[in-house]
Amino acid sequence: MNMPSPTLSATHEVSNQAPPLENYNLFTHNRPLIEAAEREGAADDLAWLAERGAELGSAEMIALGGQANRNPPTLKLFDSAGRRRDEVEFHPAYHELMAYLKRHGASAGPWADPVRGAHARRAALFMLYAEIEDGTLCPTTMTYAVVPSIMRDRAIAEEWLPRIFSPEYDPRFIPSGQKRGVTLGMGMTEKQGGSDLRSNTTTATPVSGREYRIVGHKWFFSAPMSDAFLILAQAPRGLSCFFLPRFTPEGEVNDIRIQRLKDKLGDRSNAGSEVEFWGARAWLIGDEGRGVPVILEMGTYCRLDCVLGTAGLIRQAASLALHHTAHRAAFGKRLVDQPLMRNVLADLALESEAATALAMRLAGAFDAQADLQQSLLRRVLTPASKYWICKRGPVVAAEAMEVLGGNGYVEDGPMARIYRQMPLNSIWEGSGNVMCLDVLRAIAKHPACLDALAAEVAPALGRDGRLDAFAGRLKDDLRRPEKVEGCSRQLTQAIALMVQGALLVRFAPDHVADAFCASRLAGSGFAGGAFGNLPDATDFQAIVARAWPD
Ligand SMILES: Cc1cc2nc3c(=O)[nH]c(=O)nc-3n(C[C@H](O)[C@H](O)[C@H](O)COP(=O)(O)OP(=O)(O)OC[C@H]3O[C@@H](n4cnc5c(N)ncnc54)[C@H](O)[C@@H]3O)c2cc1C
Repeated sequence: MNMPSPTLSATHEVSNQAPPLENYNLFTHNRPLIEAAEREGAADDLAWLAERGAELGSAEMIALGGQANRNPPTLKLFDSAGRRRDEVEFHPAYHELMAYLKRHGASAGPWADPVRGAHARRAALFMLYAEIEDGTLCPTTMTYAVVPSIMRDRAIAEEWLPRIFSPEYDPRFIPSGQKRGVTLGMGMTEKQGGSDLRSNTTTATPVSGREYRIVGHKWFFSAPMSDAFLILAQAPRGLSCFFLPRFTPEGEVNDIRIQRLKDKLGDRSNAGSEVEFWGARAWLIGDEGRGVPVILEMGTYCRLDCVLGTAGLIRQAASLALHHTAHRAAFGKRLVDQPLMRNVLADLALESEAATALAMRLAGAFDAQADLQQSLLRRVLTPASKYWICKRGPVVAAEAMEVLGGNGYVEDGPMARIYRQMPLNSIWEGSGNVMCLDVLRAIAKHPACLDALAAEVAPALGRDGRLDAFAGRLKDDLRRPEKVEGCSRQLTQAIALMVQGALLVRFAPDHVADAFCASRLAGSGFAGGAFGNLPDATDFQAIVARAWPD
């Protein structure tokens, strides 16, 4: 008898499973990002971004991201004869991804070619790339962020900026003068403290001119294969910022000893390390005792990237959720057609659109370097946006994972990686509370920040009573002297929500702005409940359709 057994054929048949979300254009289907890029100065770059969107959404790029994370870097401390190597080895996929980022200007484009809208163009690219792989964004961000600090020192700038600006990625562990391109990192956090940098104990002893010898350690030192780092150390006149190259000018390996690699929750493709400095040679940047403002200038650009990266990940999580529900049915209907699921999806889509609008608005403010009002806005909006968007990331990831059911929880698909990655941007480069304290500091030091915020929101007022009332309440709160540190999360969240609301009221379709105001701004404000609580009158269909990824 050759008849197939019905039981066996049932075990091999796969139905009601979503195909992978791949081979789609990440940019051309992302209406909120297209519109934000146009508004914020990258209108001439839409075709270029569409090309990147097609490349990044390809199955090949998605596979590279997976490989780089399944094969994390390894530390090679010694050679076979016992000599120190202090090298980190990466999977080829990591190098390929790094080369892609370098080639397309993600690590230095706006500095190498400072045309109008250059930061906005890079920001859009960064957000698209964040949907594919995030570990490689860490060295990319640090290389981008270091430039303003390095520009303070003419000699270092003349030697290093051309290598930083180079679109070539060169991973060889050789002196930077022999390389086709370089990447940079930063070291602030020590065992005894990361937020409170005054607790740094690493010392810098003057040798001659601006050269010092560094003795001490760093507890978190990402991308230790970078060609140079900005670090903080205690010099005779106090905490100072130093340029620490991996090789000395004579071509010797500098005395930076990698102790071990961090075993991290996520961000697995990237190497995080602990290091010791055994008399490493470094050069002062800025004035002795004034290191924190110099390195925090770098920190500001890193914070921008935390916002962009998380907004990109939020978009990816929402896209995966939407895609899944179109291909999966339960109780006789596709999940996307189930009313309660549609509410959840619309809410995730709203969060993604609001994050995209705010992230791109912030990037646009970084383009307007010479405009005082934009500088003031940037000063307060950077920590507020980093706080809020990075706080929303992990909850979006958890909800989107649940949309995929059990498939979301296993490592075969991308959702588990997104979930593990999400909290990092909230911790790194100023954790949540530190961002809120920075908002208070910005307002105390530059009260005109409040005028810049008011000017940002003013064009949206008079169109939606809920936004008007929310902004009015916040204005009172911001000017009330008894508002204290202990309530600054509330204040920071409200600033971000108000600017998101204003952007959506001005620029998004009415059904998006209406749902955002109803769910985030109405009544006594957003209490941060679970997703899927949009009011019944919401135009779910239109919101979901606008967010559709493919
Ligand atoms: C994957 C990864 C990579 C990293 N890479 C680098 C790197 O390359 N270079 C580098 O220098 N650092 C790096 N860091 C370190 C990171 O920047 C720090 O972990 C972060 O700044 C917090 O410092 P901490 O860990 O010492 O925590 P702490 O400073 O001890 O803070 C702990 C908590 O207390 C809160 N807190 C602190 N002060 C206050 C206050 N006054 N009021 C209320 N709450 C407060 C913080 O918000 C935080 O939630 C990395 C971290 C991670 C996870």
